[in-house]
Amino acid sequence: MFTSKNSKPSLARYSYYLLIQRMQAAVLPVITFEKTVKNAKILNPLKNFAEDTLTFEYRKDPLTGRNTTVIAGMLDYVGKFLTSDAALLESLVEKTRANCPFCPENVKTRTPMFPKDFLKEGRIFVGDATVIPNLTGHAERSVLAVLSREHHLKLKDFTSELILNGFKGGVAYLRRLAEVEPATRFPVFAVNYLPPAGSSIFHPHMQVLARDRSFFLTNLMLEKSRAYFEKNKSSYWTDLLVKEHDGERHLFTANGVEWLVPFAPLRGLNEVQAVVKGKTNLLELGNGEWQGLAEGVRKILGFYHQQGYVSFNIILLSGPLDENLDYFNVNLRIISRPGIQAQGFTDAWALPYLLWDGEAVEEPELFAGRLRAFLEEK
Ligand SMILES: [Zn+2]
Repeated sequence: MFTSKNSKPSLARYSYYLLIQRMQAAVLPVITFEKTVKNAKILNPLKNFAEDTLTFEYRKDPLTGRNTTVIAGMLDYVGKFLTSDAALLESLVEKTRANCPFCPENVKTRTPMFPKDFLKEGRIFVGDATVIPNLTGHAERSVLAVLSREHHLKLKDFTSELILNGFKGGVAYLRRLAEVEPATRFPVFAVNYLPPAGSSIFHPHMQVLARDRSFFLTNLMLEKSRAYFEKNKSSYWTDLLVKEHDGERHLFTANGVEWLVPFAPLRGLNEVQAVVKGKTNLLELGNGEWQGLAEGVRKILGFYHQQGYVSFNIILLSGPLDENLDYFNVNLRIISRPGIQAQGFTDAWALPYLLWDGEAVEEPELFAGRLRAFLEEK
């Protein structure tokens, strides 16, 4: 609120203040959601060779400009690869349990420990979560949080407490890392759950990767967010939340964390994005925001389970740990992955994996509607 130092604001000055507010509101947000629809005609053998029209919708990511093609009806086509063979899944659970280093009887004898000068206790314990160094990591500082005592969890059994403990363990590690090695300032949390999501170990776990250089996607988002800020004098992330808040892709708000379906998904298989309001790196998040992230992940996994999915990935992106940036927000993506089947289908085919293009198997707005309907029933 506008106030002058020694007196009540004059009417003229207050009117001026309101005018500036209105001008800012009129200018913001400047995000545009661009899409172009293209068609192809075929003679369809499934319809006795009648003429049929296929639709391809090219969507431009409003931050990066990357293309995602939305292919209406593709979800029905790939749907058969997304469910799992229950007997095969159960047999793999049993087979992998026998020699699992993360099961409670093995985790203290068969997993690495931190050197004593880094952490006297050797491992970090938060509830059922145990944070350990990675035996064969993906970055110079690569750790895991074993999340549960159970060797396998259905997606509906990931509680927010379990996820929260993993986050808390991971951030405790990052706090210690910031003390002893402040140059390692680019962290990412990642979850790969079950082999279709790239996990070599069945047992539920979360990864924390930290390096002195940012990961490609983080770097791209940081650069594009800075360019947006310099051009528009406002934060892309703030503008995105303003623009999406009452829109058809918005899902819910949880403890300062906004959950939505992205306009142009990165991978497009039941993809949801979360944005932490006003926080630019993971060390700035309070307990409430970590709860908002954990609770949101639990909700989305509940939906995936109801749809028959068993496997997923998460990435949680942070700005550099030693900076508070005006133009970037901590944000998360979660996607489902194919089911466990003898055929071993993968959605990491040439177009997303090598051509770096996006493809969504369903209109994001339809997906958001289905997900909202599920959440409202609960
Ligand atoms: Zn296990």
